[in-house]
Amino acid sequence: MTSYLSILKEYFGFTSFRGIQQEIIESIGAGRDTLGLMPTGGGKSITFQVPALAMDGICLVISPLIALMKDQVVHLRQRGIKAAAIYTGMTHDEVLVALENCIFGNFKFLYVSPERLSSELFQAKLRHMKVSFITVDEAHCISQWGYDFRPSYTQIVTIRKLLPSVPLLALTATATPAVVEDIQRQLGFREPNVKRMSFVRHNLAYSVRRVVATREQTVLELLQEHPGSSIVYTRSRIGTYELASWLSSRGISAAHFHAGLTHREKSERAEAWQRGDIRVMVATNAFGMGIDKPDVRSVIHYDVPDSPEAYFQEAGRAGRDGAPAAAILLHDSRSVATLKRRVEDNFPPEEYVAQVYEDVCCYLQLAMGDGYGVTREFALEKFCQAFRHFPVRAYSALQLLSRAGYIEWADAEENHSRVMMSCQRQELYTFQLSPAMERILHYLLRTCTGIFSEYAYIDEREMGHTLGMTEQLVMEQLLELSRRHILKFIPRKFIPYITFVQRRLDREDIVLPKNVYADRKHEMDERVQTMIAYLLTPECRSSFLVSYFGETDAADCGVCDNCTGGTPVTAPVMTDEALMQRILDLVAKEAPSSFTQIHFPDIPDSRLGDLLHRMKEEELLPPSLT
Ligand code: ADP
Ligand code: MG
Repeated sequence: MTSYLSILKEYFGFTSFRGIQQEIIESIGAGRDTLGLMPTGGGKSITFQVPALAMDGICLVISPLIALMKDQVVHLRQRGIKAAAIYTGMTHDEVLVALENCIFGNFKFLYVSPERLSSELFQAKLRHMKVSFITVDEAHCISQWGYDFRPSYTQIVTIRKLLPSVPLLALTATATPAVVEDIQRQLGFREPNVKRMSFVRHNLAYSVRRVVATREQTVLELLQEHPGSSIVYTRSRIGTYELASWLSSRGISAAHFHAGLTHREKSERAEAWQRGDIRVMVATNAFGMGIDKPDVRSVIHYDVPDSPEAYFQEAGRAGRDGAPAAAILLHDSRSVATLKRRVEDNFPPEEYVAQVYEDVCCYLQLAMGDGYGVTREFALEKFCQAFRHFPVRAYSALQLLSRAGYIEWADAEENHSRVMMSCQRQELYTFQLSPAMERILHYLLRTCTGIFSEYAYIDEREMGHTLGMTEQLVMEQLLELSRRHILKFIPRKFIPYITFVQRRLDREDIVLPKNVYADRKHEMDERVQTMIAYLLTPECRSSFLVSYFGETDAADCGVCDNCTGGTPVTAPVMTDEALMQRILDLVAKEAPSSFTQIHFPDIPDSRLGDLLHRMKEEELLPPSLT
């Protein structure tokens, strides 16, 4: 057997293992169930990829993120390693081709998204595979106590039963001590075995910045104070656009990013930022997975994240290169109230959830008692318009209904088109083809290796660009080629859908079990409380965070705002809260009838105006005052 180190060098081009990689690899290589805890960017992928290449058979990798899965498959193939993936959205034929390849094709990796594990086809084919070991990436998803529980992860236990002697490697970057225990129990570890490394990031200076004027202004100041590449996280998609435009207008090179952009927009922007052509990426949390830029100098949070887990992961994207970097969280008078409201948004009252269920049934015209196993197209936005629901709460209600097992719901997910040849290579010369078809076939044969035995992703627009054709023409030619059985073509589509797992019930019969609703709500509440404590703590922020993950003996970092004596004050010291109190006092005393009658000599009118409007929105001012 080749040594792990030589595999690392040969396939991945690295000269040595990092952190606890080798320890994890030796543990799983020796056939022991292993839980590896390494921070994001620590290099978890290597810990299953290297041993899998050293062992006979195929490694089954369970991963929740389809985009990341595809990405890893592409990277492995580029290194000449045979890898396949199956996930929701693939056709039956595609899945079949992938699975057959894994049985007969000497494949080393099969990535599976968790909801595919329960499929009969998958389980039947799995029996014929020689599996070296099972990898569970993002293993915290199996724990109900984790911050990102995914019910489909519980299917992993079934797979373990089908492969009783196969060892399992679980990997995660975020697990509290309770979740570490739970992961091992849920995954049926034969004996406890955890490999962990310290999560302390010595070069990362955490701080909380109180917003004095506006949040936009504060971000601008922070970017001026911290030169270099940056990510600014905000929660709203529109917010990313607005802030990026505002920063650009102030001379800062910035772009925006969120899950609603097209695949192409996302990859172009991510690459421009990666190269350093764009300095600041203003993004929702959709940005970051699989992003691996070492020299990010600051990560700024415009809104406070819901959980220490999310905050730690996102902030941790700064300073991967080991040079000093900053993780800054903005905090204003509204942060605490907003955090608390998010708990209510995520867990709307149970009657409301039942109402959404009934409305969805009406919307889809499902009769009482009907609907068992029925799948329908379902676009959340249209539904919300038709039934006047707030998207945030309706989204949460659907999520809860899925978790309680009433429906399965897949939100829009952009797919690639796929092609595979359905003829033999030598047959190609026997067909009568138009010039356009010939050029398309040439392109495919040149750019997609393995296209005779497996489906390849294609991008019609890019093809058209290279070949000097319109996207439409490329599509038409591909469809024609598929009609003539020369190739198989699966056009991309993105259709969100709902499947009814049970027949339609009365709304009174919709119950949300404690472990779906009450317990989860309680946990979210606790995480939110931890974030509030983080905002307010006078202690070392680094120690605060790592002790949440069970590392209670970490020394003070010496670089966070608390260790270095508090946030530097750069502007007048009147906080929003203090100013609001002054306004309320004045309103109580003088009962002004219009905003224009409110004035303080030491406060700019623009700031006062902003605050008054905000207070009005939050109903802190009498309705008569405008
Ligand atoms: P994680 O899954 O823990 O977030 P990844 O597996 O995506 O991290 O790896 C993060 C980055 O670290 C990748 O760019 C990877 O190539 C790099 N990396 C991993 N192991 C090593 C190593 N031993 N030497 C150098 N770079 C490594
Ligand atoms: Mg990873």
